[in-house]
Amino acid sequence: MKTARLPALQVLWRNPHMLKVRPSLSLFFLDYMRKFRVRKVGENLILHSHLPPLNSPAYSRFIREQLIEKREGPSHAQVGLTAECPQRCSYCYNRERKGQAMDSAEILAVVRELKRLGILWLGWTGGEPLLNKDIVRLTEEASDGCAVKLFTTGSTLTPGMARDLKAAGLFSVSVSLDHWKPEVHDRNRGVDGAFATALRAVEIFRNVDGLHVGVSAVLSRDMIRQGQTDEFLGFLEGLGIHEAWLSELKPSVQAFWNDSYVISEDERVGLVRLQDRYNRRNGMTVNYLGHFEGREHFGCNAGRKMIYVDAFGEVSPCVFTPMTMGNVRDRPLAQIVRDMRERFPSEESCFINKNYRSFQAHSKGAIPIAREDALEMLENVTFAPMSKFFKLYDS
Ligand code: SF4
Repeated sequence: MKTARLPALQVLWRNPHMLKVRPSLSLFFLDYMRKFRVRKVGENLILHSHLPPLNSPAYSRFIREQLIEKREGPSHAQVGLTAECPQRCSYCYNRERKGQAMDSAEILAVVRELKRLGILWLGWTGGEPLLNKDIVRLTEEASDGCAVKLFTTGSTLTPGMARDLKAAGLFSVSVSLDHWKPEVHDRNRGVDGAFATALRAVEIFRNVDGLHVGVSAVLSRDMIRQGQTDEFLGFLEGLGIHEAWLSELKPSVQAFWNDSYVISEDERVGLVRLQDRYNRRNGMTVNYLGHFEGREHFGCNAGRKMIYVDAFGEVSPCVFTPMTMGNVRDRPLAQIVRDMRERFPSEESCFINKNYRSFQAHSKGAIPIAREDALEMLENVTFAPMSKFFKLYDS
């Protein structure tokens, strides 16, 4: 793996305005960045794929708009490009969402508005985003000044499509792969051959020059408890990828609204330590969501710095929170975003892990929870204190 030489100087040279960031925030970032090795992938300097490349216009915007100007509103968004998917994962956050899917013109309008509202990192999701025949055109439009990442099962991918996506500006891709045993992955994904599809997609993406390639994995609580995460990471590293993007299984669908599936704080901390241990070596980067979003780093930013627009136009605080704060067809996106910002102050721990029981009480069997029910639910939610970063940011 190529690591960058003197990355801090390269980043500073491109972003002299970094010197205007408040010293306490700069120190926080320096400390955070020391936990990773900066990779050089093509021309991009990448810490991990939850942030734009450090030498990109999007990162420059991040420093200026978020760290210096402290612009209100989200910096990160995920957008569903289609609701269709050949796989049927039991834990898929889109599994129970329904409606009329947006067409590409509507998606494009959403993307333009998101960028106007300050989005500088955009994740394509679905359904299977590759099934949107306009994905290359959408990527081209989105990637101007914004870092675009793709989350995919790899279904229907061709080498030409992978090259076209990179040429359109895609900086990173994560292929879903949840287990090293083909039969377990296929069973979780509800389709035979899902494992083979994922491995083939990883290989195709790895052959595209300059593309940051990773796997995104949903870790079951059993895997975490039985101490198998190390073994899984060893398998992923053998695939020659740049990054393992990890998340524990989230209680986003009704079938998983049960304590036995939700990880404990000790288990989260165990994964944070595992990540730090891995990233001290010069191998694949481990990027666990509960590390980035942990209390010791950036915390949960659902609805404040992160939003999700699903394939039907419903807007949620993040992909894992099964509530809608409105549909882009019914209310201006800017209004929905403002509405959400007023209700989600950000906090040190994962909103959905903590509150899924309240979703259970208010869902009336419908996912995502309707706006009125979500508002009622939020009145009884107590937000935890801020994460370390946001204590500094808001002080
Ligand atoms: S609710 Fe959980 S998954 Fe969603 S942004 Fe917050 S920490 Fe991340």
